Amino acid sequence: MLTFLGRGSAFADEHNSAFFVNESDLILIDCPMSSFEKLNDMNLTLFDHIYLLVTHTHGDHVSGIGMLVDLLQFSVKTPITIVAPSKEVEGDLFYLLSRIEGCNDSWYELTNTEDIDVDWLVCSIQTSHTEELAGKCFGYCLTVDGQRVVYTGDTNTFIPYEKYVSDGSYLFVEMSAYKSPVHLYCVDMKDKIKELVDRGVHVYLMHMDDEKRIGEVMQDTGAEFAPLEKNAFTIQDTPRLLDGIFTITDSLYKDMCMNNNTDHQLLFSYLTELGKTIVDADRASFWKWDKRKNQIWTMSATGVDKIVIPDDKGLVGKALRLKKPLITNDPYNDPDFNNEVDIQTGYHTKSVLVLPVADVNGDFIGALQLINKNAENGFDEESDPKKLSLAALVCGIALESETFLEDSHHDRLTGLKNRMGFYYDFGKHFREYMIPEAGKTMSVFICDIDKFKRVNDTYGHNAGDDVLIFTAELLESFCSEKDSVYRWGGEEFVMVMRDTDLDGIVKKAEEIRLKLQSSEIIADGNTLNCTMSFGCSLFEPTKSIEENISNADERLYTAKETGRNKVCWE
Ligand code: GH3
Ligand code: MG
Ligand code: MG
Repeated sequence: MLTFLGRGSAFADEHNSAFFVNESDLILIDCPMSSFEKLNDMNLTLFDHIYLLVTHTHGDHVSGIGMLVDLLQFSVKTPITIVAPSKEVEGDLFYLLSRIEGCNDSWYELTNTEDIDVDWLVCSIQTSHTEELAGKCFGYCLTVDGQRVVYTGDTNTFIPYEKYVSDGSYLFVEMSAYKSPVHLYCVDMKDKIKELVDRGVHVYLMHMDDEKRIGEVMQDTGAEFAPLEKNAFTIQDTPRLLDGIFTITDSLYKDMCMNNNTDHQLLFSYLTELGKTIVDADRASFWKWDKRKNQIWTMSATGVDKIVIPDDKGLVGKALRLKKPLITNDPYNDPDFNNEVDIQTGYHTKSVLVLPVADVNGDFIGALQLINKNAENGFDEESDPKKLSLAALVCGIALESETFLEDSHHDRLTGLKNRMGFYYDFGKHFREYMIPEAGKTMSVFICDIDKFKRVNDTYGHNAGDDVLIFTAELLESFCSEKDSVYRWGGEEFVMVMRDTDLDGIVKKAEEIRLKLQSSEIIADGNTLNCTMSFGCSLFEPTKSIEENISNADERLYTAKETGRNKVCWE
């Protein structure tokens, strides 16, 4: 419905003018200078198009148009269409604007109600006001939020509007506290207004010269003063903002559902982008809290690479400890603010909002951080965490599911990936090596600690565990970027080497065998030596993963059969 930038008459501080939003368009009715000043403070970039309906050419209705056209041309870059209520007034407006220095006619479109076709405009309504403007003074009949709206503009008669005011419609009617030939006098209008309200018309009074007096006269009629919007910004925010949010969630949905190469990383990057859009911040990041390592790190961040920091440093760590949202709009005077990233990247942090997120058990596991809100006063303690809540919640659930997946792919004892991790990697990262036509080379070995049962039997299970941990670390230390090692089960491990042939993997196995043989292992206070046997094979893409592992396993069997502590291959 209509919202007023001002509802005063010519000599008030704020002159009569109103607006409403239709989809992603802003429609203004008149633009005095006092309204321009308000519009200048609002985020007009949120709209695709601005329309300005003019009722008549008195200064307290049109004096801000030139400034608005300038603002839209040079700063906001949103197109404007000025709509005159008739062809004749269009001519007057053209004359007026062409005389304003710096208001070029290519910067706006000028039209009239007969030539424009928009579904929110029913018609202009001719009325009479001052003698000089005879035939050039209008009100409007509109459709706003699906409702009939009648807007009188300045008028000295109500007659032209009568036929447009249907039961249940919205009437915005000018009202004066003093009798004059140019305005509607409240005492004379009182009975009419009451009759309209009784008929179910929503009556709002505007263009008032003395609100107190008019209020007293009208107090029993059921009419209200036209609604002034103190925070017009948030109302106008909605259409474009929602569109921005829906664009991100739609892309996320499509990527997740129609692209089989997705992972949690993709989800986090969309969700941080979503957070950034919702609160209109300059940067956003999502942090995971690793309580075992007492670290936090960025799962996703705009503007910077991955950051890992101790969890007792900085505002994210603080919010996680306090278990509540944290806002600072003066970070450099906050002792908990860590300015290292600013120093490294030359960025200047002016405001920070951290929203910690919990898993379904209510344990805090990460945090969404927004930096530099595009608003003078920075983040708002109430509205911004509220707006972010859904994005943060989904981040929490996504992080929890990522953690579950990671845990299920890893072996607790050694920290190596397990057999589930092995199959996941084959499905996700090694696909091209399984396509025969791709011509890619990959090889595998499976190895097994020799006589491991004896370690357990002699030194105990804890010593056995220490040997497994030692062996896992040793294997991992031999992995280069394209090599992956897995705990296959018990004291057996599998290594996969991409872009490596059989010679390469045999060589690697031999190096590891020699290294282990010469290593002294401290296991539960005992110093011992261990050896391993290896079976190597070249991965054959025409065979299944199981058949390939089985090939290597057969060589391992040979190594065990023929004396152990050796490397065998096909
Ligand atoms: P071989 O040289 O033929 O491989 O002899 P081995 O003793 O190593 O083989 P075997 O299969 O007889 O014994 C494997 C042992 O590994 C039995 C099992 O208790 C032990 N084991 C498997 N998983 C673990 C573990 O997580 N911790 C410890 N401490 N022992 C484990
Ligand atoms: Mg063994
Ligand atoms: Mg075994």
